[in-house]
Amino acid sequence: MADRKVIIIGSGPAGLTAALYSARANLKPLLIEGLEAGGQLMLTTMVENWPGFRDGIMGPDLMTDMRAQAERFGTEILQTTVKAVDLGQRPFTLTLSDDRVLTTEALIIATGASARWLEIGSDRKLSGHGVSTCATCDGYFFRGRPIAVVGGGDSALEEAIYLTKFASKVTLVHRRDSLRASKIMQDKALANPKIEFAWNSEVAEIKDVGKGEVSSIVLRDTQNGERREVPLDGVFIAIGHTPNTTLFEGQIELDPAGYIVTGKDTKTSVPGVFAAGDVQDHVYRQAITAAGSGCQAAIDAERFLEGH
Ligand code: NAP
Repeated sequence: MADRKVIIIGSGPAGLTAALYSARANLKPLLIEGLEAGGQLMLTTMVENWPGFRDGIMGPDLMTDMRAQAERFGTEILQTTVKAVDLGQRPFTLTLSDDRVLTTEALIIATGASARWLEIGSDRKLSGHGVSTCATCDGYFFRGRPIAVVGGGDSALEEAIYLTKFASKVTLVHRRDSLRASKIMQDKALANPKIEFAWNSEVAEIKDVGKGEVSSIVLRDTQNGERREVPLDGVFIAIGHTPNTTLFEGQIELDPAGYIVTGKDTKTSVPGVFAAGDVQDHVYRQAITAAGSGCQAAIDAERFLEGH
């Protein structure tokens, strides 16, 4: 007899929606919050694309409400992390950071992905105040203003092209003189008159005006080390994401980039283990799509438990 019918790892929109649905299905879920409680939305300010909030809602407020809603229906939340899992047999075994061991009939993995940062100090400090890792979320705030996008892959070019809809000018900062992105994306970006390329350039510093608003970036030439300052209002960092799947390596099928492989539903390669949100989705990566897949995972887990 397992300790739990369902355990959910992760407390972003995917994990909390999975908790809400499995609690309402009377599965008495236990949700293990993880290191970054509330997920990526805790790092944003105004969320304007979450349906139902005409004037937007602050990311942390949305997550606080989602959590309270999941708890209202009986979700138990543990403020801890999982340090090991054994998915080799059911019930599955989870070892928590305090060495407590829990067993569960079904597991929903919603550990998310973390955007990579430049790690220059000022980028994280100004996150949500002119520095963002999500163009879809924050592009609208930069209508008519000059911005930069950092990176040379498909994400960076996609974001740069998308942001030209709002920004007066987009400076694409790339550390080399050739792009990693697909040819078709390169062609589109290179042909876009609003995108200017800063080749062989690294962001050495992001400056603010003291009120938490970006005023410029300092670029360092990777060839000769020369520095130049570019005045602008926003910086979008698009240098890739890292899915939080280290815990599951060797136990569940991951794709070459480390994302959990799921089919059309949320089933993973291990029966009884389901995955939802950014940990299995590197395409859409939106709060609403993560929440949607959290709902699917709860329904998939409920059906799995009914059949076993
Ligand atoms: P990516 O392909 O890994 O590209 C990351 C980019 O960021 C690279 O250009 C890299 O430079 C740069 N970079 C990495 N660390 C950096 C640092 N510390 N400072 C400065 N630059 C740094 O990641 P991605 O663009 O997020 O794409 C991930 C996957 O999703 C790819 O397979 C991509 O094709 C796919 N994707 C597809 C689409 C689409 O088809 N529409 C859209 C988005 C993503 P270097 O080039 O010098 O290494």
